[in-house]
Amino acid sequence: MTVPLWLDAETPRYAPLPGDESIDVAIVGSGVTGLACARSLALGGASVRVVEARRIGSGASGRNGGFALRGTAVPYDRARLPGLTRFTEEALDRIRELAGDAFRPVGSLRVAVDEAELADLQLEHDALAEDGFAVEWRRREELPAAIREHAVGGLFHPPDGAFDQGRWVRKLAGLAHEAGARLAEETRATSLEGTTLVTDRGRVSADAVVVATDGYTAGLLDDLDEAVVSFRGQVLATEALDERFFPCPIYARWGYDYVQQLHDGRVVIGGRRDTDLEAETTREERPTELIQSRIEALLRELVGEAPRITHRWAGLMGYTRDFLPLVGPLPARDGVWVSAGYSGHGNVLGFACGEAVAAAILGALDPRLAPFSPGRTPVARPLA
Ligand SMILES: Cc1cc2nc3c(=O)[nH]c(=O)nc-3n(C[C@H](O)[C@H](O)[C@H](O)COP(=O)(O)OP(=O)(O)OC[C@H]3O[C@@H](n4cnc5c(N)ncnc54)[C@H](O)[C@@H]3O)c2cc1C
Repeated sequence: MTVPLWLDAETPRYAPLPGDESIDVAIVGSGVTGLACARSLALGGASVRVVEARRIGSGASGRNGGFALRGTAVPYDRARLPGLTRFTEEALDRIRELAGDAFRPVGSLRVAVDEAELADLQLEHDALAEDGFAVEWRRREELPAAIREHAVGGLFHPPDGAFDQGRWVRKLAGLAHEAGARLAEETRATSLEGTTLVTDRGRVSADAVVVATDGYTAGLLDDLDEAVVSFRGQVLATEALDERFFPCPIYARWGYDYVQQLHDGRVVIGGRRDTDLEAETTREERPTELIQSRIEALLRELVGEAPRITHRWAGLMGYTRDFLPLVGPLPARDGVWVSAGYSGHGNVLGFACGEAVAAAILGALDPRLAPFSPGRTPVARPLA
């Protein structure tokens, strides 16, 4: 029951690291970041090894809500970064081509549950529209019937979409593998000695190392442990429902609650983390009765019945102090790169940043990534 819906499938196996080896680039972590980075590096002619402690996509990339969102975790009007928003929209275009039917280009809808949130959405809408981004306002009466009683209005983001997350991650792994990247499952990196990755299966000597472990970073590098805090998010999935309640991914309460309905009628719903924030500030990847019952209550309110729950799970996401990821070379660690800390918004951003780190290692650093520099002084804001 605690296996995520996305990972509940027969999957191709990739052998553990066979022993010591030398390689151009070693990558730690096989989520969307590590896999996108590996594929791009391999296509660019580099030899690449990905080491994954568990199975492909078994971190947040196989445990999330499946929302494909542009931008960052910070609402557009609060961190007005048009270059980075375009950077993620460009990534969405590539994802659409690569993912095939594991991606549905249905847009996404963020709704406000009260007037205060609605005022925030209005600010975001105006800033996006002013800077030329596609965005549509939704009045309450235009919202899907299932959420009309619970929301006062919303913001529709046309470029976004929904993933069948498991199929997407497996597809990306297949593409990285086909491009020539070597993937090793059940191989845990235990430490870094310069650019040599020490694992429980052997040593990987590399010219560069990319750490792509987001909320699962703990224990590898002290400086990253300080910069990235892990939060737990919980999700559940239902049996297939006949009625169509949610035409696109929908999220509310500043993203704390989220729901989508898959093409087969199943509902995937998660959130309520803020109702027990202290307990959910943890690295323990385990669903709890309290949060699961609250997600279930929300589901009942939305669909007006109690569908059978088939899967319940939890995953970890890495947050930074200013909610922007750390992407680039780590200060004072020659040849060590990081791409992590997406603050719960890494499906598209992680893919985009993984590719961008690959391009930078191959010699073409995208200047739009400067606000993500690991050496930046983060804006002093409390973690939420
Ligand atoms: C419940 C939940 C819901 C979310 N919903 C959304 C959403 O709808 N939309 C969205 O954009 N984002 C969402 N996110 C965030 C998103 O899932 C992540 O930002 C994204 O998946 C990060 O991808 P990644 O590849 O960087 O990291 P991950 O997918 O977490 O992969 C890191 C991998 O590193 C491996 N690893 C860790 N340490 C080691 C080690 N020492 N050696 C070897 N391997 C190691 C882990 O096993 C893991 O597989 C959600 C997250 C959660 C938890």
